[in-house]
Amino acid sequence: MEFFKGKCKHDKFSPDKDFGYCPDCGELIENQWFIVRCACCGVKHKAVIKNGQIVPVEKFCHNCGAKEFITERINKINFIDINYAVLVKTIIPNEHFEYTQSWAESKETSNYTHKLLQQFR
Ligand SMILES: [Zn+2]
Ligand SMILES: [Zn+2]
Repeated sequence: MEFFKGKCKHDKFSPDKDFGYCPDCGELIENQWFIVRCACCGVKHKAVIKNGQIVPVEKFCHNCGAKEFITERINKINFIDINYAVLVKTIIPNEHFEYTQSWAESKETSNYTHKLLQQFR
């Protein structure tokens, strides 16, 4: 099918969900929001994606003149940050979830051990 050639941009996947499946390609997508701040004074800059990189629109900080920027991931987008932030629809590989699950299991085990230890005191 012509449709699946090239990279899917997941345009139909809603930006207000945290996770979900893209209706076009069926991949598991996570909406990740990023903002760019001046590394010097911390002022937020409007960010864009250029060649797969998150970069500020301006070449230097309008506040202090610095040219160094830091990219910061934000967990929850709000109506102020949405003017600055870029949305990156990231494909989550399945291994990621398996890894999280095994981590959760090992945590449960350690809690259990902890309880056992408490009983011995
Ligand atoms: Zn897609
Ligand atoms: Zn600055």
